This record gives sequence, structure tokens and C-alpha cells, in this order.
Amino acid sequence: MIIDSHCHLDSFEILNIPKDIFPITSGYSHDSNVKNVEIGKKLKVPYTLGIAPQTSIREGLDVLDRWIDFIKSQSPVAIGEIGLDFHWTNEETKIKEEYFLFDKMITLAEEMNLPIVIHSRKAEKEVFEILKQKNIRNFVMHCYSGDYSLAEEITSFGGLISIPPIHSKNRKEVIEKIPLKYLIVESDAPYIVKNIAEVKKAIDYISDVKKLSFDEVVEKTSENTINFFKLEGFYV
Ligand SMILES: [Zn+2]
Repeated sequence: MIIDSHCHLDSFEILNIPKDIFPITSGYSHDSNVKNVEIGKKLKVPYTLGIAPQTSIREGLDVLDRWIDFIKSQSPVAIGEIGLDFHWTNEETKIKEEYFLFDKMITLAEEMNLPIVIHSRKAEKEVFEILKQKNIRNFVMHCYSGDYSLAEEITSFGGLISIPPIHSKNRKEVIEKIPLKYLIVESDAPYIVKNIAEVKKAIDYISDVKKLSFDEVVEKTSENTINFFKLEGFYV
């Protein structure tokens, strides 16, 4: 079974999940969390819930406590996507808010004893610094676009790297040098690619670079994903 470790089922106009792909749907704002819970329960698909930094930039944090109460009342398989994003803002007050929010979300993950799905844009180092300080080891870098040397530090610390179907020089080196046991795959559809089926291109990418068969990559990345999100219950 191919697992798409990160997509947004709430954001499709017409939702079409290929039969051979098992998705994990990811929230990033309160509205998207509410929708993903609904979809997750209806389709028996695992969901992750979190308030992402893009949301604090856009909506502020006036009702954060209410958003957190909602997350606590549900059964997500992880807290995410959460993190830091320096791409959409360079305003000092907004960046301070991002740090405040990230700290709150990490505390929530600790309280709920859940792994963390990290969103970071132009902020990989800063995110990892915080995770190290707090000794958080159970996390995945969603759509990782940093370089190999940081990926090496991250995986040595216990983190996973998620590979989307987008090629880049950095990503190729990460795939080449990071052992398969630290890699999972995602589509991030409908954002970075349009369809969930394109997660197969991320599998092809790993299989090309690592010179492994498609099935070997599926088997190992799915196993990593199941262990990370504790998905056994979803496969009965
Ligand atoms: Zn995403």
C-alpha cells in the first residue's frame, strides 16, 4: 500500500482518492482542521491537526485557545503542520507570533503525546534549533527543502525527512545520502502538485536516485510512515 504521508483532502474541489493510495490529511488552520476531522471520520482516513505559521500571519492568534481546545477534543495522529515560515513575512511582530505559536503547538504535541509534522520555509535551521532545545525527536520535516548536512543532523537526532514529487539539487543529494529508513513520501496535493496520485512521482524519484525498485521504496517508506504515525489501527 502506498501511503501519501501529507496531503490536504479539505482543499480539493472534487475529491478523488486513487484506490491504491492511502492518504493522511493535514490541517493547517482552524477551519481546515474542522474540515479534515469531518473528512477523516467519514472516509476513515487519519488526520493531523495543527495551526501553521501561515495561519498566524493571515489570521492572527486572538482565538488560539479555542483552536487548541478543538484539537484536544479530537484524535489526530500527529500535531501538524506547524513550524516557522520566513517566506511570507519579515515583519518582526509576525515572526514573534510564529515563534509563540510554534511553542504552543509543541507543548500541545507533548501533552497529547503525539509526533509532529513540521512546515518550514526558509526556517529549517531555526525550527531544528527549537526541537533540539526541547529534546523533541519524534518529528518529520514535511516537504523538506534544506540541504544534506542539515538533513544528516536531523535524522541523526531522530527526525524523518518527507520527500515530495519535486526535483531539486538539494533534494537529490538528500535522497542519495540519507538512508531509506529515515525517508517518507508525500504529495502535499492539491498545493505543490494537483493530484494525490503524484505521490508516485516521489517514489519514482527515490527509486531512481537510490537505484531501488518502486516496490522496495513503497514497502520501506510505508513501514516508516506506519511506525511514525502509529497507523496500525487504520489497517484492520
Ligand atoms: Zn501541506
